[in-house]
Amino acid sequence: MPAANLVQRLIAALEQIEIIDAHEHLSPERVRTSAKVDVFTLFSHYTRRDLMVARMSESDYEVTRNTDLPLDYRWKLFAPYWEHIRWGSYARAALIAAKKFYGADDISERTYADISQKMAKANTPGIYQRVLKDACNIRTALTQAARTDVGQPLLTPVMPLVTEMEVWDQVCRPAVMDWQGNLRPMDPAIAVSSLDDLVAANRSYIKQVKSEGAVGLKMVSNPYRSPSRQAALECFEDLRKGTASSLPAVNPLRDYVVDEMIKCSEEENLVVCVHTGYWGDFRTLDPLHMIPILERHPSVRFDMYHLGYPWVRESIMLGKGFANVWLNFCWTHIISQRFATDALDEVIDLVPTNKVIGFGGDYALAVEKVYGHLVMAREDIASVLAGRIERGQMTEDQALTLARRWLWDNPRELYQLGL
Ligand SMILES: [Zn+2]
Repeated sequence: MPAANLVQRLIAALEQIEIIDAHEHLSPERVRTSAKVDVFTLFSHYTRRDLMVARMSESDYEVTRNTDLPLDYRWKLFAPYWEHIRWGSYARAALIAAKKFYGADDISERTYADISQKMAKANTPGIYQRVLKDACNIRTALTQAARTDVGQPLLTPVMPLVTEMEVWDQVCRPAVMDWQGNLRPMDPAIAVSSLDDLVAANRSYIKQVKSEGAVGLKMVSNPYRSPSRQAALECFEDLRKGTASSLPAVNPLRDYVVDEMIKCSEEENLVVCVHTGYWGDFRTLDPLHMIPILERHPSVRFDMYHLGYPWVRESIMLGKGFANVWLNFCWTHIISQRFATDALDEVIDLVPTNKVIGFGGDYALAVEKVYGHLVMAREDIASVLAGRIERGQMTEDQALTLARRWLWDNPRELYQLGL
């Protein structure tokens, strides 16, 4: 364990470094300010999964989110499960946020009503500025809300690369759905009746979102097969003629269109962001699924998210071996600080310093938790760097230069942000 005073000194220095937050799901601020918020808003996101795993029922969870019901009734349902999840990394971000913004030393029977009252009062225009800019020192946050009208320049949009192609309805009217369920047609002017139409609608969408300020397109590391136009055509015709009512989520039509859109991202000079690992049945999200794509598209810049947890070593090896891969620590510090610090230390050994992105909060409604996550990220970065300093491998100045690369220079260069 590095000396606490060195870690604290580094944290204080890290707080002075301006941040590019490399991944969020924040919608335009008005979505947040028009929502009724209370203490349970702090549990609207990843902690939800922890509560389910702790065996809170889906219906009880939904009750806690129903602001028409009395707060004390909802707290009684919630409290036993909160005790089961409160020591996890997801919960810690909520605890830090509650303390920073609402002055609560804990989230408990004693504080939940007061936190709720203060949250409602603070839920006014300017909350993004107060949290992201003033508290976090974030210049811009790259956000994936499936819309580009997110409120630039504080938020910078990243859009889905491609959408589902399982049923004819999704194929003949390709559209992007945002978190509120609003559909945006990829190109309203194109009626899709052929595979080429489908590719054209997707291309037109990519050009359009780029013109609206998007800097990247997001895909997931599914088990893609080699793209085949012939196989894609057959799938397309099966859906069009109704000989197949649906296709599996990963299918030759999607394989082909994804590959065409990666080529289009290269033409448009957009980063391809890749969710890897952890989510649902994560067997379908192994980061190694990306290797054939990385080899086929050497000039595309791939921003690989989350270190593919639990395939951490595999993900680090992608950063080690592929010039077109960046490793993005978004979400990692709230998955587990232990894993994130171990991985960061190992990444210093293995991966050139210009290829690592240090922080992305990965939150949607609970913007306050971006701060909670960032505090944890700074702790992790400081403790790893302190270890290096104490072993005489780098000076404090060199350590902070490295941190500045992770938090500012590298995301700025990768996404070519005009900051
Ligand atoms: Zn995310």
